Amino acid sequence: MEGNRIKIIDAHTHVQFEQYDKDRDEMIAGALASGIGMINAGADLKSSKDAVDLSYKYENGVWAAVGIHPTEPKDFDKLEEIKKLATDPNVVGIGECGLDYFRDKDFDIQKKQKEIFENHIRLSNNVKKPLVIHCREAFVDTIDVLMANKNDLLPEPGILHFFTGTIENARQLLNLNFSFTFGGLITFNRSFDDMLKFIPLEKILVETDAPFVTPVPYRGKRNEPAFITSTIEALAKIKEVSVEIASKTALNNTTGLFNLSI
Ligand SMILES: [Zn+2]
Repeated sequence: MEGNRIKIIDAHTHVQFEQYDKDRDEMIAGALASGIGMINAGADLKSSKDAVDLSYKYENGVWAAVGIHPTEPKDFDKLEEIKKLATDPNVVGIGECGLDYFRDKDFDIQKKQKEIFENHIRLSNNVKKPLVIHCREAFVDTIDVLMANKNDLLPEPGILHFFTGTIENARQLLNLNFSFTFGGLITFNRSFDDMLKFIPLEKILVETDAPFVTPVPYRGKRNEPAFITSTIEALAKIKEVSVEIASKTALNNTTGLFNLSI
């Protein structure tokens, strides 16, 4: 196998989801052939297992993150199984985990979400794999939970995926040494420009979060890892660096944080 064939890594995607049942292998092979690798994140037990299985179908370039998404309470009692999956060498991150108050306004569910999130933080520490955090309309509580569990955070504790917080939230998360992933939204929604200018390039990773949030110029199509190049182009433009620098830096950030050998 030629070394260094992976040039870009989609740091957060879901090609194990059913939207790809018809052409998954073809699509992944196409992405890998053009030098695009990916980390498939689980959202519940099944999609976590599927992400791990998928990683074994390819020699290099396809990794998994395992966890229970805050809006999947049906699997909140499956953490023991997630813990077993987490030790797999192809599992490079713990998540998606975190808090989502956009979809769940109920106090008891929010309390439960926090408890499950804390379990993921401890798991991340136990297996020494960074957190993949989903946070929607819950930044104050997410930061509170992270601060309260600071001793369990790794030196490079992980990513806030699809970051939609404020500059102040970003500042606090940077103080904890977190990184951030941005996706297709930055190709067409200019309200992220100031945030992207604020966060150092060394703390930014790129993702598609496929099948969701397709970037320009592919709007209207199903999203997929190959479309990550548009997000890198948008990032380069906002950061006023070359596409090559943006691409290389995002790659280094991803391999460094998730300990990937490519
Ligand atoms: Zn996701």
